Amino acid sequence: MTKKEEKQPTILVADDEPVNRALIERRLQREGYVVLTAQNGSEAVEKALEALPDLVILDVMMPVMDGLEACRRIKECDATRDIPVIFLSARDETDMKVSGLSLGANDYISKPFKAEELLARVSVAIRLKQERDRLRMNAEEARESAELAQERAMTDALTGLLNRYGLQHILAREHAESRRYTRPLSCLMVDLDNFKTVNDTYGHAVGDIALQQIAHILREAVRGSDTVFRYGGEEFLILLPETDLEGATALAEKIRSSTSSRPFGDGERVFNLTLSAGASTLRDDESGNDMIARADMALYHAKEGGRNRVEKAESQEARM
Ligand code: GH3
Ligand code: MG
Ligand code: MG
Repeated sequence: MTKKEEKQPTILVADDEPVNRALIERRLQREGYVVLTAQNGSEAVEKALEALPDLVILDVMMPVMDGLEACRRIKECDATRDIPVIFLSARDETDMKVSGLSLGANDYISKPFKAEELLARVSVAIRLKQERDRLRMNAEEARESAELAQERAMTDALTGLLNRYGLQHILAREHAESRRYTRPLSCLMVDLDNFKTVNDTYGHAVGDIALQQIAHILREAVRGSDTVFRYGGEEFLILLPETDLEGATALAEKIRSSTSSRPFGDGERVFNLTLSAGASTLRDDESGNDMIARADMALYHAKEGGRNRVEKAESQEARM
């Protein structure tokens, strides 16, 4: 099928009178429509579902299943609901028109009709459907690209980790869960030690590689329910649901130790890195951001204490 043919609207014509069917079919084909035919209502319903035409023209009086019943079934089914229906009938009675239209038919043409009238009404119904399909497609695309933009806005391009916006999103959820089920929630604030010298010595591009390597280490170290965020330049935050301060500290220690014992760099320029971390656990009366602020304070003390170490928010409070 060529592109041009694909675009031609398909019309399903159901009429029990072979002469009528052939007449309408020929007339529509001459206008460039693709025409399918059915001899009764039940065949029309079947073919509508199978071919999903752009328009269905239904004779009202047909054996086996009449046009009204066929219309009702077409409008009942999710797949065919939006296909416009035009009734064609010799019974030019108001109540028949009303029942047809109330079933969801779009238009009604009384027999005998002029070919021009049929073609005009067909063209309007098809144009409206195409317009609606286009609008629906645009709305769908807009929704998809908005979702993508939001996801992108919450993701850090260098490491693929969630960023601070992503954090606020997930922090609110985890904070609420922790409260609801009275489960602990902890966090780790991690900062690379003397990272500026990496950039100064090996260049920014190598610094970027090291950040990606650190992100990989962090991601590998945590459980599926934990989340690692790139909090700032060379700062990372790890959110640990159902983890107490001891568990958080143990994880931080594991990360610290594995970081200090492996090489970083691009293969050509190889160097060592260390990191410092602060751990805190959510208190009964505080917000998620308060908990993070306390982890940040503990991190500050880890830096003060000489770097390449882990501090708990607890011990820092005891000291004050
Ligand atoms: P400290 O042990 O006190 O944390 O020292 P530091 O040098 O790590 O800390 P400082 O805050 O002085 O410097 C952070 C450095 O991290 C400076 C900045 O250029 C670097 N940095 C931040 N973001 C990026 C990044 O995306 N790529 C690279 N290559 N470097 C970054
Ligand atoms: Mg640093
Ligand atoms: Mg820093």
